[in-house]
Amino acid sequence: MILFRRLFRDKIDENMEEIKTILFEEDEMKHIPRELQQFHFPPILELNVGGANFTTSLSTMKKYKSMFSSMFSGKFEVVKDANGRFFLDRDPEVFRLILDFMRSDVLPPKSCFLKVYNEALYLSFDYLIEKLSVTQPVAGKEVRDCFLRGSLKYSQKFDELIRLGKETALAQGGARKSKLKIAVYKDKAENTTEHRCDVDLEFGPWQGDPNVPDLIHCLVEDLKGLGYSNTEAHCVGICDEPLHKDFGYCRRSLYTIIIQWW
Ligand SMILES: [Zn+2]
Repeated sequence: MILFRRLFRDKIDENMEEIKTILFEEDEMKHIPRELQQFHFPPILELNVGGANFTTSLSTMKKYKSMFSSMFSGKFEVVKDANGRFFLDRDPEVFRLILDFMRSDVLPPKSCFLKVYNEALYLSFDYLIEKLSVTQPVAGKEVRDCFLRGSLKYSQKFDELIRLGKETALAQGGARKSKLKIAVYKDKAENTTEHRCDVDLEFGPWQGDPNVPDLIHCLVEDLKGLGYSNTEAHCVGICDEPLHKDFGYCRRSLYTIIIQWW
């Protein structure tokens, strides 16, 4: 009886193993058609990129490792427009520059370095990222961002400057220009809690080598970048208010920023 039970249990175990194998194989089979599925593309590709038509070769699109090489690798289906062109929902102007690079290793014009670099990041186009990351606009932006992030809270203060300027202009019945007074200080030691300079906004502190004119340069350039092309900045001296704590003086740099609205 014991022997029979053992034999019976062995038989059950054996059958279970067989069932497991069959189930495993069936499960695996489900994936096989998907894995083996290949999409075929013609050697000449007709593309619709953001509404503009391009013609290029399959080999150009696959020349460098990027999102394009993955799209046309055959593993994925690429959606077509009503005219049968492969559709890419990207900016055609930037695509044209990237296509030039893929065709003949030509970098875009300097004015487009940053824009193309950002697109290369989006496309995971490593070779183009590498080529553009050593150009002045891209490398320079990285260095500048290093200065402006952190304790300075630059972007927050920058937005506040524009908001205050606009409020002032509106309060003056739609004045053409707003003149804002700012105090700029680099060192934390100057950030005394008991003293507030008589200004609209304070900028600082920050660490590292950049100085007060460097910060003013950023403010003016960023305002111009937003279309305030007639922005002016003038140094109007230093704050000479006495500090009660150590009987010294404030000494923060004072500037006026003039924003022209219309
Ligand atoms: Zn002061």
